[in-house]
Amino acid sequence: MKIIMLGAPGAGKGTQAKKIAEKYHIPHISTGDIFRANIKNGTELGKKAKAFMDQGLLVPDELVVDLVADRLAQVDCADGCVLDGFPRTIPQAEALTKALAGMGQKVDFAINVEVPDENIITRMAGRRACVGCGATYHLKYAPTKTGDICDTCSGELILREDDKPETVKKRLEIYHEQTQPLIDYYTKEGIIKEVDGTQDIDVIFVEIEKILTQ
Ligand code: ADP
Ligand code: ADP
Ligand code: ZN
Repeated sequence: MKIIMLGAPGAGKGTQAKKIAEKYHIPHISTGDIFRANIKNGTELGKKAKAFMDQGLLVPDELVVDLVADRLAQVDCADGCVLDGFPRTIPQAEALTKALAGMGQKVDFAINVEVPDENIITRMAGRRACVGCGATYHLKYAPTKTGDICDTCSGELILREDDKPETVKKRLEIYHEQTQPLIDYYTKEGIIKEVDGTQDIDVIFVEIEKILTQ
């Protein structure tokens, strides 16, 4: 089962992807997490990606596509995976189709988590990320159990630099220009599934479970 998560920045793709990965025992592959890990480790890729991420721009396709294709070829993806934050452009979607076809596979479900722009800015302001393990929380909607530190690793929680309102506005513009066209792309492929991302986290997940067991 190959699943991709579509939706604006902050729509809740990562939150739902994690729940899918846990329930179906498949890897959760987040390109944003991969880039942040590279930045943290000071790799060449991390240095290149950071310049784009800090401005709210997409990292160029050529830096993303091979990385994901290599990841999909790893053995733990054989039974499926959930891709979160990839593809984000039409060329990335085409590259994904091609990479999977080379392995005799295809995307089974493209889940679009729909949240209006108005909700995104406030939602992002409350998002907190763990510097240790990358776990995501929300001050109001997904708080930690233990106060100001990460439930999993006790790491420090921060507001991501690119979650500040000015950068979020830029990311939303880029989303509408470059990523939203993927909804048409996967509608034509006949695999798009819409969920209302303004509902409670658990309500959305119940809808997704229904979609995946259809
Ligand atoms: P969000 O969870 O808010 O949607 P991500 O963590 O997925 O954000 O991504 C953070 C940043 O990493 C993006 O704004 C972009 O700069 C870069 N990025 C992540 N995935 C991709 C991708 N598939 N193509 C290009 N850039 C990407
Ligand atoms: P994305 O991966 O699409 O950028 P996240 O899953 O990181 O989005 O969610 C963005 C922020 O909103 C996080 O702080 C998360 O805890 C919170 N969040 C996720 N889903 C919901 C929801 N249905 N209602 C309210 N807040 C949510
Ligand atoms: Zn942590």
